[in-house]
Amino acid sequence: MQDFWFRLSIPLVFGTLFALLLWGMFSVTIALLFMLLALLTVMARHAWHLFKLLRWLQDARIETIPEAGGIWDEVFSRLYKMVKRHKQTKLELAAELQHLEQAAAALPEGVAILNDSNRIEWCNPLAQQHFDLDPERDFMQDITYLVRQPEFVEYLRGTNFSEPLAMRPARHDDMVLSIKLISYGENKRLMISRDITQLERIEAMRRDFVANVSHELRTPLTVVNGYVENLQDMPDLRQESARHALQLMAGQTQRMKNLVADLLTLSRLESDRSPLHEEIVDMELLLNEIYQDGQSLSGGAHVLQLELQSKAKLLGNREELRSAFGNLLSNAIRYTPQGGTILLRWVARDAQPVFAVQDSGIGILPQHIPRLTERFYRVDRSRSRETGGTGLGLAIVKHIAIRHQAKLEISSEEGKGSTFMLVFPGKRAITGVTPAA
Ligand code: ADP
Repeated sequence: MQDFWFRLSIPLVFGTLFALLLWGMFSVTIALLFMLLALLTVMARHAWHLFKLLRWLQDARIETIPEAGGIWDEVFSRLYKMVKRHKQTKLELAAELQHLEQAAAALPEGVAILNDSNRIEWCNPLAQQHFDLDPERDFMQDITYLVRQPEFVEYLRGTNFSEPLAMRPARHDDMVLSIKLISYGENKRLMISRDITQLERIEAMRRDFVANVSHELRTPLTVVNGYVENLQDMPDLRQESARHALQLMAGQTQRMKNLVADLLTLSRLESDRSPLHEEIVDMELLLNEIYQDGQSLSGGAHVLQLELQSKAKLLGNREELRSAFGNLLSNAIRYTPQGGTILLRWVARDAQPVFAVQDSGIGILPQHIPRLTERFYRVDRSRSRETGGTGLGLAIVKHIAIRHQAKLEISSEEGKGSTFMLVFPGKRAITGVTPAA
């Protein structure tokens, strides 16, 4: 700064000294005239440099920075350094951005940034490929205008993104995408899309394999079972040990038959090829049937009660609902000791129809509850087997619930009993309509 004042004052000091000399040599008027001329020259010079600065600022490029002498040299050289630094930072930032873009492009997943109104702010090449996006044409477009599948639009409008959405893109229906949304920053969302076609294919192969094996096993099993039953009924079968062996064989073949039947039910429910055939189900009739089945299964060992608090009928598939309700009731009977009570209820909870089975049985420890619907998950393997369980009942119930957009809620206390509830969406409750024939 000192340098600045020094350089600024040099012409003034020299001018003043020269004016004093002129005053001494000639007169005060000549000295003042000289001073005036000198000041006007200095001002004109500053004005000229100011003009050059303003003109340069209109298009501030490093190559066109003006040249000047004196104090203006200092100003322009500082500006030059500043612009150079700025240019360098810009280059570094651009390089960083390019690195990030290269990294995002190399990701094995599609990534898109959406703002709070689902407009696309950025996407990587894989996301462009997955959703047929054009980064320039579709920049800041609402993604729901470009990807219109109802399940996708509904997923985006929702608030629960804990589970990914599996979807087939409109223009590549041979592809299956898994889509997940992650919220971050201020109302921004990261949309990750993953091609799971291969995984789905393997999963479909696994399902088909289980279905085929179960199907293949069914016929030989029925034949073996038939022969075992015939042998058991033969009047000349005296030997006690042979009778006992046949009894065991009959028990085991029956178990295998149940297992194959449950595996086939599960494969059918899991298959994309079996859409839900809906009808209006008369719940009073259906639950009375279930109740009768329960009575004969229990054989009078339990106190069974049926409470129909709601008159609503249910939109769904009768056979599937029968299977789900029957499974829950058969579990309640099998896991409740003799003399216990079992209550079947059909009620409305916050406009949602609910089917509940409450038992006073052995109950379940809390750590097992989240895993009960896994295939073959049993709390007590031997009890399940003894009572004729396959370990697939609740997996079947869960699948039927999903197909009806219902939720399976389980509450239990060990030693006191359990309640299994199927909570259906309100839109499935039908009131005041006669059921279809
Ligand atoms: P399983 O054929 O073994 O009964 P499920 O899938 O129907 O198979 O049930 C899984 C497990 O959940 C059972 O093995 C049992 O341990 C437990 N479970 C199901 N229902 C009840 C119930 N009402 N009371 C106690 N435990 C139950």
